[in-house]
Amino acid sequence: MCGSVNDLARATLSRRGLLAGAGTAAVGASLSGAAGPAGAAPATAPRTARGHRTQLVLLGTSGGPAYWPGSTRAGIASAVVVGDRFYLVDCGSGVVRQARSAGLGNASHDTDGPLDALRGVFLTHLHSDHVVDLNNVLTEGLFNGLHLVDRQVPIWGPGNRGGLPPLFGPPPAPPVVAPDSPTPGTREMVDLMVRTFATDYNDRALDNRKPVPSQLFAGHDVPIPAHLLADPNGTPCPRMSPVTFFEDDLVRVSATLVQHAPVFPALAFRFETEDGSIVFSGDTGPTENLVELARDADVLVHEVIDREWVEMLLPEPRTPAQEGLVNHLLHAHTEVTDVGAIAEAAGARTLVLSHLVPGSWPEHKWRRAHTGYSGELVVGRDLDRIGVGRRTRRRR
Ligand SMILES: [Zn+2]
Repeated sequence: MCGSVNDLARATLSRRGLLAGAGTAAVGASLSGAAGPAGAAPATAPRTARGHRTQLVLLGTSGGPAYWPGSTRAGIASAVVVGDRFYLVDCGSGVVRQARSAGLGNASHDTDGPLDALRGVFLTHLHSDHVVDLNNVLTEGLFNGLHLVDRQVPIWGPGNRGGLPPLFGPPPAPPVVAPDSPTPGTREMVDLMVRTFATDYNDRALDNRKPVPSQLFAGHDVPIPAHLLADPNGTPCPRMSPVTFFEDDLVRVSATLVQHAPVFPALAFRFETEDGSIVFSGDTGPTENLVELARDADVLVHEVIDREWVEMLLPEPRTPAQEGLVNHLLHAHTEVTDVGAIAEAAGARTLVLSHLVPGSWPEHKWRRAHTGYSGELVVGRDLDRIGVGRRTRRRR
């Protein structure tokens, strides 16, 4: 409906106007093909997956901070739903609210859901847009069902980088943040979050008789073989085959390293259930590791970036520093024109685009991902559900 309006708006507005200044919000609103202006209802209702026991639920589909002008996409987060339980993959801005909006867990009670049904949290890497609301899950969770979980919720993610990334551009180097531990991994990060909010946790435990964190959750570093982690600055990331690191009665989860330098380690995950498989690319440039992890997957959820936006953000002529930034953006992410070939090489049956950069681009631009791909393409929108395997029973 609004495609021609979007095109006209893009054609008639200057590059400068797109990036800064008073016109930004209006431009962003007109660019947002999937979501419409902030606060407005989405143009199309979310996809449903009635009858599927295993479902992918897209809780947030924004790449980068979820504040693209005019877009209502929430921060990057997904849920793997198996029956009446679910697992979170990344915890971008708004994850608890979106889990509530998706009807996960106890959806009808003011304080007993949605996190009563949470079985695990899986973080692909520790960039803030992927983890910023983990603390929300862990603290506000006490009043959104987390206090009712029937077992300790594991929080899995990459371990300590082991050293600072190289200085980008000429010296001098900036001062190091938290020099005693400048690159904490997932286990340490969760411990630090608990320490940061100790006043709250202790108050809730003593006054409201809520469980203490150690009764509810624990952080864990995904056990990638040590020899693969020896050089955190190595690029491309080391070639490896997936390692299985988590299994319960509903899912088996494996991981591989992906190409998101200078962030390291950065992970992709594969979930296997009785019904089929869902793979999450995390943030990555093209890598054989992901193709192997996603081999014959039912669903591949893949990040994507549009070079057109990068070139608009950093137009030529560029300084050396700007040229470096363009390279970073394009090598640490996967271009929309490349992702189809990756899904095809893996033999993935459905390709779902999420973590869209920019989050305000109209849907037709992402449809270029079909190039070189013969399967089903889904341009993800918040609260979309994608069923895996055969329908087993009626369910929302
Ligand atoms: Zn990232």
